[in-house]
Amino acid sequence: MSAAAPIGGCETARPQVRSERGQRAVFCGLTGIVWLHRKIQDAFFLVVGSRTCAHLIQSAAGVMIFAEPRFATAIMEERDLAGMADMHDELDRVVAQVLERRPDAKTLFLVGSCPSEVIKLDLAKAASRLSAKLTPDVRVLSYSGSGIETTFTEGEDACLSALAREAPREAPGAEPQLVIVGALPDIVEDQFARLFAELGISPVRFLPGRRSTELPALGPNTRYLLAQPFLGGTAATLDALGCSGVVGPFPFGADGTTAWLTAAAKAFGVPATKVREVTALKENRARVAISRHRARLAGKRVMFFPDSQLEPSLARFLSTELGAELIEVGSPYIHGRWLAPELDLLPAGTELVEGADVDRQLDRCRAARPDLTVCGLGIANPLEAEGLATKWSIELLFTPTHGYEQAGDLAELFARPLARREALEV
Ligand code: SF4
Repeated sequence: MSAAAPIGGCETARPQVRSERGQRAVFCGLTGIVWLHRKIQDAFFLVVGSRTCAHLIQSAAGVMIFAEPRFATAIMEERDLAGMADMHDELDRVVAQVLERRPDAKTLFLVGSCPSEVIKLDLAKAASRLSAKLTPDVRVLSYSGSGIETTFTEGEDACLSALAREAPREAPGAEPQLVIVGALPDIVEDQFARLFAELGISPVRFLPGRRSTELPALGPNTRYLLAQPFLGGTAATLDALGCSGVVGPFPFGADGTTAWLTAAAKAFGVPATKVREVTALKENRARVAISRHRARLAGKRVMFFPDSQLEPSLARFLSTELGAELIEVGSPYIHGRWLAPELDLLPAGTELVEGADVDRQLDRCRAARPDLTVCGLGIANPLEAEGLATKWSIELLFTPTHGYEQAGDLAELFARPLARREALEV
């Protein structure tokens, strides 16, 4: 955990983070392709991996695989692994096939996997060679989504980092701009764009946007605001380009969204009265939507297994806006710099665990018998069979959850398993 800069609250009250290492039950970073390809509409994701990787993507994408998706796996065969085929020639052949089939692709991501990394296939080199060949029609980038290097949402972090490195540089003396970082559903992007316009902050750009060809120019006049807590690598890339980050709680729930917007407003010198003017009504509406689920969640004991790095932010939402009690909040990584404001808002004494030892956590879960356990698909059904209500954490990535207008839906995602349980018990 990196040094955390306290933003508000009292540092001594901030819950301590305990580390745990052991068996993990999480997705690898390839899973990010499922939501990234929907967001970046002119990109194609080519995983260079094994049949296992292809199976993972197919299972995670579910029915989407029948909709001519913009992702595929170049499966490494035995002759590739045995060194009988030139991997770079093979890759060129597959890339040519992909582009013939999807001529609309403007950016092609070569996504590294465990097998490609173990045999040390240099995808960065392949990407720059292919880019030089295909420019200006197609840009080829690479990043790693392997289980060795990345956990679940870190795949998005690696992808956005690659995109940020590719962005043009700001012209000297460029006007200050705000860049929102994180793949947001289009509907949420539009809502945020309207809110920032009302606050008088402009221009506001999104990374990634809907078109990979429209990257914002980056440099010292760029302030960036993370929309997701798992983008520490992208933030480091942006810092290296001279941009500076705005730190605040993440936009989950009514309070979270206001705090996030307030952090940006402060950085752009927007007065607090203006922020109130723009946010008050919307925040209230969100509060009403959330309150519909409060009775079901208030006082309920909730435990988070480490999965997406969203855990501390969602735990804060459940605790401060829905009155839930947090038994344990596990997260694969806790980026201290970005999560400090969230940790400050968690109740003192919250059990925060970074990393994973799934067997020990399952023991703790069985002993505590929480009212709701937020966990991955592999753990959820076995726990349900033991009589524990669970929420599949992957849904929290696939469903629009950010901002005022989604705050009620976010609360409902947690309330639904409890409602279902009540209905089945009747
Ligand atoms: S990248 Fe690694 S962890 Fe992910 S599916 Fe492929 S082999 Fe499995």
